Amino acid sequence: MSTPVVSIEHVGEHAGKEVSIRGWLYNLRESGKLLFPIFRDGTGIIQGVISLKEHPDAFNAAKGLTQESSVVVTGKVAAEARAPGGYELHVSALEVVQRVSESQPYPIQLKEHGVDFLLDQRHLWIRTPRQASILRIRAEAERAARNFMDSQGYTLTDAPIFTPAACEGTTTLFEVDYIDDQKAYLTQSGQLYVEATAAALGKVYCFGPTFRAEKSKTRRHLTEFWMLEPEAAYAHLEDMMALGEGLVSAMVQECVKNRARELEMLKRDVSKLEKIKPPFPRIMYEEAIKVLNENGNPAKFGDDFGGDEETIISKNFDKPVIIHRYPAAMKAFYMATDAARPELSLSFDMIAPEGYGEIIGGGERLSSYETVIERLRQNNLPEESFQWYLDLRRYGSVPHAGFGLGLERTVAWICGTEHIREVIPFPRMLYRVYP
Ligand code: ATP
Ligand code: MG
Repeated sequence: MSTPVVSIEHVGEHAGKEVSIRGWLYNLRESGKLLFPIFRDGTGIIQGVISLKEHPDAFNAAKGLTQESSVVVTGKVAAEARAPGGYELHVSALEVVQRVSESQPYPIQLKEHGVDFLLDQRHLWIRTPRQASILRIRAEAERAARNFMDSQGYTLTDAPIFTPAACEGTTTLFEVDYIDDQKAYLTQSGQLYVEATAAALGKVYCFGPTFRAEKSKTRRHLTEFWMLEPEAAYAHLEDMMALGEGLVSAMVQECVKNRARELEMLKRDVSKLEKIKPPFPRIMYEEAIKVLNENGNPAKFGDDFGGDEETIISKNFDKPVIIHRYPAAMKAFYMATDAARPELSLSFDMIAPEGYGEIIGGGERLSSYETVIERLRQNNLPEESFQWYLDLRRYGSVPHAGFGLGLERTVAWICGTEHIREVIPFPRMLYRVYP
């Protein structure tokens, strides 16, 4: 019987048995007649022991082997409480698939490097256990988000990336040359399109990349980021606040449950994440202004909240906080207003704890044809480009609502990373489109 090939994350299921692991040499410590290599295979790391006396061929193949050389190793799995992951591999055979040349060593050493250097090496940086853990948590968060939306009866309807016009203001638009002399823009949000699919299918969402030519150089802005955008016909502000609460809780709890090892690798304080369950605190925009003033911040009615304001407000809560009914003048043209207080919009933002800022923005949409026309004009948006959108108000307009959840902001908070650039495989930022 041939030796089974196993992934490091499942190695514990083979304790006492011989297995093969296909991966790379992450590190090597030599100590006389013993070698202590650390292998990685993308699912985890495991320490090996190779003895010259018992397995001279394996010993000679591994001795002096360069970091990140690719290897297939075979050995017996042994429980070892002190080893990372709880197991080690008593290596009996080692096949080098490709040896990294001494003359061109792997550029990322096991020491601290500057972040600009690491970003230039992003295609390699993602191999380090910390970065790989973050990407696995991101995948878990995406899966949890989709599962949750599907379980709530929402249908995934993908929105286009090339669009004919802006929907979130023209200052952050990427213009591209389309075919012949046409211009197109990279989407800033799929929202207008999910309004159309919601009228067709009822409850829908899109989940894909969006683009903003953000000139802001903060730890929470990328120029390309992923957004999950639900939209539901016959839904109101209240429905969307509840949906957002459920979605965020599901994403966090699934990561806590299924990515415990990765969160531990990141040294994340999981007790903070375990508390993230509905209901979340809700305050009106006007109350948020009061909280800010009490904390020495001079914000007044009509001001937008930046990172500093969001951090002050979120400090009062150990769960995400929902701020609703922002001044109508501050919000996008499609936002509905509160009949009781027309100066307020039926909008909400959700602010993550621990200073991670806004993770959701959304609310109820305008349903009247006349009001949408009026708002397009006020915002200097080209009416011709919005004829299809106006059709949604001409033909069976209904109250409807939705929101956009920023995937990277949410994952950065779950992982506890300092900057959101680490939570997307290849970040696109103000001065970076390489690699
Ligand atoms: P902010 O004011 O924080 O820049 P916004 O209000 O412009 O964000 P929305 O248009 O409400 O953002 O987008 C919905 C969500 O998408 C936000 O709540 C946030 O989670 C995410 N998001 C927005 N812009 C970015 C960005 N440049 N990089 C990463 N995520 C973003
Ligand atoms: Mg917003």
